[in-house]
Amino acid sequence: MENHSLSGRTALITGSTSGIGLGMAQALAQAGANIVLNGLGDLQEINTLTAEMAEQYGVDVIYDGANMLDPAEITNMVTTAEAKFGCVDILVNNAGIQYVSAIDEFPEDKWQAIININLVSNFHTIKAALPAMKAQNWGRIINLASAHGLVASPYKSAYVAAKHGVVGLTKTVALEIAEQQITCNAICPGYVRTPLVEGQVADQMKAHNMSREQVINDIFLVAQPSKKFVEVEELGQVAVFLCSPAAKSINGISLPVEGGWTAK
Ligand code: NAD
Repeated sequence: MENHSLSGRTALITGSTSGIGLGMAQALAQAGANIVLNGLGDLQEINTLTAEMAEQYGVDVIYDGANMLDPAEITNMVTTAEAKFGCVDILVNNAGIQYVSAIDEFPEDKWQAIININLVSNFHTIKAALPAMKAQNWGRIINLASAHGLVASPYKSAYVAAKHGVVGLTKTVALEIAEQQITCNAICPGYVRTPLVEGQVADQMKAHNMSREQVINDIFLVAQPSKKFVEVEELGQVAVFLCSPAAKSINGISLPVEGGWTAK
């Protein structure tokens, strides 16, 4: 039977034109939520995606191209969504980028962009969306951290620092809203097959002169005991669960979805 438990709710998912964010938007739409899509990409393709999603799930879907590097655009996006839907009931902070380099060669602009998109944007979206959640005494905030929010890997200093920051931000917000029917949790995926990871696979193939299969098995899935990528659909269902009544007392956690990586 179809689950329309989020009917009448509105979910804003940053970075939802691709990968995990798109998968989460689809899962939340399937559960009945109206959707605010956000992210970079070809506007015509995004318009098609928006129309298709609305048609497929019978919900309202709008797109806002706010750049997660720009606090004013972020605030505007939340204000626009509230003007249309009343409240951003569900906020998913998902937009993220990656750059891999030894720290002594790490380009400063890449460091800053990763910190700003992966961490600082979460501060701005939460700050903008929380007052309306508080006013209605209901809300769900889901931050996409990473297994790299819990443990480190070499050459990912900016990403690991940003994702550990997301875990800390999640705990702090959770404590601040704990007495209301609002929760703030982080999801910590291991490697998920998305364009972000495909880009890294291609880089590693070049850097090590290895085949695609070798890179996937010997570099990426080495850390992941399941030896399998996490699928986008699994994360969508985790997000729907965190929005459900069963998860109302789950607050401030950083939930690993990584085939056992951080159990080691
Ligand atoms: P992706 O590259 O497929 O998607 C990233 C999304 O963020 C895209 O929609 C892109 O347009 C958007 N984005 C990037 N810069 C932006 C900006 N300045 N303003 C607005 N939007 C912007 O990546 P993904 O793999 O789906 O990753 C999504 C999130 O999940 C990220 O936070 C990532 O760190 C995290 N994550 C991914 C994996 C993985 O293995 N793929 C693992 C753990 C955590």
